Amino acid sequence: MRIVLLGEPGSGKGTQAKKLMKRYSIPEISTGEILRKALADNTPLGKDAKVFMDRGELVPDSIVLGMLHARLKKEDCRKGYIIDGFPRSEAQAISLDRMTSVIGSPVGVVVSIEVERNELVRRMSGRRICVTCGQVYNLHFLPSKNEGVCDKCGGGLFQRDDDREATIRTRLDIYESQKFPLVEYYKKKGILRSVKGTGSVEDIFRTICAEVEKR
Ligand code: AMP
Repeated sequence: MRIVLLGEPGSGKGTQAKKLMKRYSIPEISTGEILRKALADNTPLGKDAKVFMDRGELVPDSIVLGMLHARLKKEDCRKGYIIDGFPRSEAQAISLDRMTSVIGSPVGVVVSIEVERNELVRRMSGRRICVTCGQVYNLHFLPSKNEGVCDKCGGGLFQRDDDREATIRTRLDIYESQKFPLVEYYKKKGILRSVKGTGSVEDIFRTICAEVEKR
């Protein structure tokens, strides 16, 4: 199973990637999470990435490609992987093909999760994350029992800096400006599957599993 999940920020890629990771026992590689960790650890790459992330812009390929390559080369990716948040442009898709063919683990299926823009804005602006365990909540449809407190571990909930309304719109505009060539690239290769990203998390998950198992 070598899966790429495509979709706008807020489309539920991260949630579905974590479920796929459990179902198929393969690692999830989220470029956004790797970058946030580098930022939290104050590494030189994290510092370089920060200015772009704060603005909701794409981090330059010179930073992202190296990070992804290092992660894909690790032993646990031999049996498969789920990449979420990458590629975000046709150029990144070409780089991913090069990287994975050198490593000997080419992408098998690309699932694009489709959600309308208004819904994406609503989801992202309501997203809250536990500072301690990373559990994700949503003020609109998955609130914690006590406001601002994680149900699982009691940690405080925070809003990602880039989940504020102005930044959300920039992130969506950037994704959408790159989406067409990216989707066409995988369509031409015959490995693209589109899945509706609205409805229950479980229903969407079942649809995604059915698509990846067809391969
Ligand atoms: P995400 O969690 O996927 O929404 O990513 C959060 C932020 O990390 C994005 O707004 C970008 O600044 C950066 N980022 C994540 N993945 C990539 C990528 N593939 N290329 C460039 N920047 C990225």
